[in-house]
Amino acid sequence: MPETLPIAVVGGGLGGLTTAAALSRYGFEVHVFEQATRLGEVGAGINISPQATKALTAMGLGPALAAAGTAATGQIQRSMYTGEQLAETAFTDDDHPTGRFGAPYYVFHRADLLDTLVRALDPARLHLGHRCSDLVEHADGVTLRFENGTAFRAGLVIGADGIHSRVRQYLYGTDEARFTGQMVWRALLDGRSLPEGILGRHGFIGWIGKGCHIMTYYLRGREVINITTQSDADSWVEEGWSVPGDPDRMRACFPGAAPELQLLLDSVTQCSKWGLFGREPSTDWGHDRIQLIGDAAHPMLPNAGQGAAQAFEDAYALARWLNAGRDDPLAALAGFRDVRIPRAHAVQRQSLANSRLVHAGDWERRQELFRARERGGDTPLGMNWIYGYEPEAEWNVRREYPLSAAPVSG
Ligand SMILES: Cc1cc2nc3c(=O)[nH]c(=O)nc-3n(C[C@H](O)[C@H](O)[C@H](O)COP(=O)(O)OP(=O)(O)OC[C@H]3O[C@@H](n4cnc5c(N)ncnc54)[C@H](O)[C@@H]3O)c2cc1C
Repeated sequence: MPETLPIAVVGGGLGGLTTAAALSRYGFEVHVFEQATRLGEVGAGINISPQATKALTAMGLGPALAAAGTAATGQIQRSMYTGEQLAETAFTDDDHPTGRFGAPYYVFHRADLLDTLVRALDPARLHLGHRCSDLVEHADGVTLRFENGTAFRAGLVIGADGIHSRVRQYLYGTDEARFTGQMVWRALLDGRSLPEGILGRHGFIGWIGKGCHIMTYYLRGREVINITTQSDADSWVEEGWSVPGDPDRMRACFPGAAPELQLLLDSVTQCSKWGLFGREPSTDWGHDRIQLIGDAAHPMLPNAGQGAAQAFEDAYALARWLNAGRDDPLAALAGFRDVRIPRAHAVQRQSLANSRLVHAGDWERRQELFRARERGGDTPLGMNWIYGYEPEAEWNVRREYPLSAAPVSG
């Protein structure tokens, strides 16, 4: 790659902005092209698990994250119907007041997290109102074409344009994301108007029902409460994958709720409704000068809270590989895929397994599994291997561990 050609990131979502921040930190000239005319995220919460915090911290974002997020001390799972406690996950303990997995587990208002990432970028390299419509590959680069009639020539293209990725479509043709059989309602409440303690001692409760669950947690300290529901659904008949919802219809989906949960649901005055779309895990993550990351590469159900977290791991690993492989960036991208694909696939599978376990009608079997994991020191959903991951130590550790292939340094 001629070193003079910049890197283009298509998509200014959480994954694209983080990738640009990580690459900029190593001195690359990176341009982000986002279709929207202003940057924004849905009004909802997002969990950033410890290993993703570690990746972001390694990019120099630790203090900004601490200022914008709320570090959760743990999470309790209750029955949606009786309120009975089913399990508890501690993110901190006496020996590890800032996080037993080596870093805080943060919750953010999505807009705050996005702002934090934007502030890490050069505004002159953030191109809004640029919807990528086509790509043309050359021997030494790629030209991006945009619907606004402009074009940009890059040495490498990072496709971070989400689940309905245009870059993915260019590479692999029609490969449409499919409805996963699950749908989501999202709402935000005024946290100060509800009784203190309604979200338990961690301020974070997951309510488990049959074929559904609801996550409720505080954001911005205790200012806002996030509600995200997830239910099995036969089909998705709405025109878009995100549409405004009706709070009464949202409430009607969860009959027989325990009193605290009912109070939360009754407080909803505005909500949105989402169909969850996905793809099977695939090794189609790009080739040559075009690399997919985030949901464009590995969409997953939100049952492990890992979609954005995996995009952050991608961003960090990608920057490390490209920095270490400046004289052969195509080999660096191949190395990135070699490391990231097995991990992202395993997380995609875990998200699916969590969904089946949490929504299973067989309470007793689930409780046995929760208890067995807790006895073994794991979280009820078996997340230790994900949270305990060390992006800085493992960015170039290949799964197969071929002794002949010396890791790249950098
Ligand atoms: C209900 C729900 C809850 C979730 N909770 C969590 C959680 O707690 N923790 C977690 O880690 N993850 C969570 N996720 C997943 C997470 O939101 C996604 O994985 C993450 O946002 C993906 O980021 P991305 O940048 O890859 O894609 P996106 O966020 O989809 O961003 C893609 C960007 O590309 C732009 N774009 C698209 N096409 C083009 C084009 N042709 N040209 C230019 N720009 C384009 C879009 O406008 C968008 O800005 C959740 C998801 C859902 C649905």
